[in-house]
Amino acid sequence: MFKLCVCPGDGIGPEVTKSALAVFETIAKQAGIEYEINEALIGGAAIDATGEPFPEASKVTAMKSDAVFLGAVGGEKWNEMPVSLRPERGLLALRSTLETYANLRPVRMFAGLEDMSPLKADRMKNGIDMVIVRELTGGIYFGARQEGDNVASDEEKYSRKEVTRIAHVAFHTAQTRDKRVTSVDKANVLASSRLWRRVMEEVALEYPDVALDHLYVDNAAMQLIRDPGQFDVMVTNNIFGDILSDEASVLVGSIGLLPSASIGESKALYEPIHGSAPDIAGQGKANPVAAILSMAMLCIHSLKRKDLAEQIEKAVSVVLERGERTGDLMQPGCEIRTTEQLTEAIVREIAK
Ligand code: NAD
Repeated sequence: MFKLCVCPGDGIGPEVTKSALAVFETIAKQAGIEYEINEALIGGAAIDATGEPFPEASKVTAMKSDAVFLGAVGGEKWNEMPVSLRPERGLLALRSTLETYANLRPVRMFAGLEDMSPLKADRMKNGIDMVIVRELTGGIYFGARQEGDNVASDEEKYSRKEVTRIAHVAFHTAQTRDKRVTSVDKANVLASSRLWRRVMEEVALEYPDVALDHLYVDNAAMQLIRDPGQFDVMVTNNIFGDILSDEASVLVGSIGLLPSASIGESKALYEPIHGSAPDIAGQGKANPVAAILSMAMLCIHSLKRKDLAEQIEKAVSVVLERGERTGDLMQPGCEIRTTEQLTEAIVREIAK
């Protein structure tokens, strides 16, 4: 029995979660997968109900589950709360509870959406279909910190163990795709990057079917704009991944299209990369695709059913190309759909 913990959260979170669940239930029933869904409070919704952004009961539900799905958290209503009680704290607590060390962000250009990209068409002649694998629990964000009036420092430190496990995630991911890994570092300057590069080379020997190459981070930032179609899987450390994944996310047209997965030793968290979008919450304007594609990632990484993920991705692709769109992707000749209508169209396509 597959146990899914669902945390809808705030703003458009519950709306897009409903869409993702409709898709999950359709695909699970079709594939004969037995499942149990347990809802947990997080963010502002949890603060309103219990006074805390990630209450103990939610932690217990998350830890008992095989995977966690999160909508989004946050909103103006809770902006005046002390920092330790803000909705975003709930999300950080959830991530650290699950100990997810690898963040995966696929970036894909859907057919028919090329004009939504800030890049000129000739930059995308090879399309865009890549996954950024970012190390999430080590490096400079967690290193020793010293903060004085005249001098301050932050330590970038990686162990062989930390690099090895993220390397395996990257190579495994590449095996399910085009079998190419680009490791991004700054090995011409940083000792931590030289260890990173050595370990990547060592782990690569275990994956003879996957090609590995290396790029310095400054070059990687340029190449993402110059020719994003050249990449399959890009693996990098915490800080470089933070910056490069945001850079890559603007290439495909709307933040409402981008899913993510965060993988740990035994737990995984799936969530759209967007926030709670208070400006459009409750109006049926949210694009559900990022949340729905996060469920496709769950099929790959938690259910080990790439075939089901492909079925979801194909349905999304067909519906978007047909011109059924939420407002964020409006173009001449397209037809506007609410969150619910777009979800129904995708579910119908899956059920075909
Ligand atoms: P946001 O991602 O919520 O919204 C940015 C812009 O993108 C808005 O104009 C919004 O309408 C639009 N947008 C976002 N998702 C969309 C979708 N699915 N469909 C159509 N349009 C969409 O970022 P923000 O405005 O900076 O933050 C709003 C709140 O969300 C804040 O409280 C912030 O702290 C929180 N936040 C939460 C997460 C998370 O839960 N993972 C991530 C980022 C921000």
